Amino acid sequence: MEKPEKLIVDGKRLDGRAPDELRPLKIEVGILERANGSAYVELGANKVLAAVYGPREMHPRHHQQPDTAVLRCRYNMAPFSVEERKRPGPDRRSVEISKVTREALEQVVFLKLYPRSVIDVFIEVLQADAGTRTAGITAAAVALADAGVPMRDIVSSIAVGKVDGTIVLDLTNDEDQWGTTDMPIAMVPRKKLITLLQMDGHFTGEEFKQALDLAFKGCEQIYDAQRQALREKYAIKRGNKK
Ligand code: UDP
Repeated sequence: MEKPEKLIVDGKRLDGRAPDELRPLKIEVGILERANGSAYVELGANKVLAAVYGPREMHPRHHQQPDTAVLRCRYNMAPFSVEERKRPGPDRRSVEISKVTREALEQVVFLKLYPRSVIDVFIEVLQADAGTRTAGITAAAVALADAGVPMRDIVSSIAVGKVDGTIVLDLTNDEDQWGTTDMPIAMVPRKKLITLLQMDGHFTGEEFKQALDLAFKGCEQIYDAQRQALREKYAIKRGNKK
């Protein structure tokens, strides 16, 4: 798309949202039979799958840690997920996102309970419209819970940014591309513990505070949706057993 003259008109964004509004969010739990835990997240046009395996014995063995499990994350974008076909396989961007995803999640996982083990988290982006790293973290946190991995709490993630001088929640690809700032964040909302903060662009100190505040509000909504999705799956399971 060519750069539009304005990204915000009469207080509304190009897709009709208010600056502090999330895109429609859908979370499904346990959709893959062969993974120990899984989740599917749609956030606007983003479609992201997360699968968790483990804890299980770490292979190759020389990667084993004697006193802790290792959280191994792989973020991958399907070739058909973006407008211009993405070359399959890892690249600099996916290696970076895999790393920050691990860092965002490992703070809440009780890794010390499983020495010499690995917990594998696979994130597959099927369709992308900006915010895939945050949607991936949101999905992975739910998949970890679905796998029964002991965790302190759930991590929730969203991006905030600045578009036409306005602080906005949950940027689309057009807003990411034509806006001035993109700041993906992950956190444990109940503790207000931030586990990921990246920034592309600039904020003044005041804007940063405003953006952080908006990210907290967005993450609280995501946290509620994550817990609701987990409740739905496990309530149905209990019901079936009767
Ligand atoms: N994107 C793309 N091709 C690529 C990488 C990214 O079209 O090879 C698009 C995609 O829509 C992605 C967006 O650019 O969601 C923003 O990418 P960024 O690196 O900021 O990560 P994200 O916002 O997805 O976490």
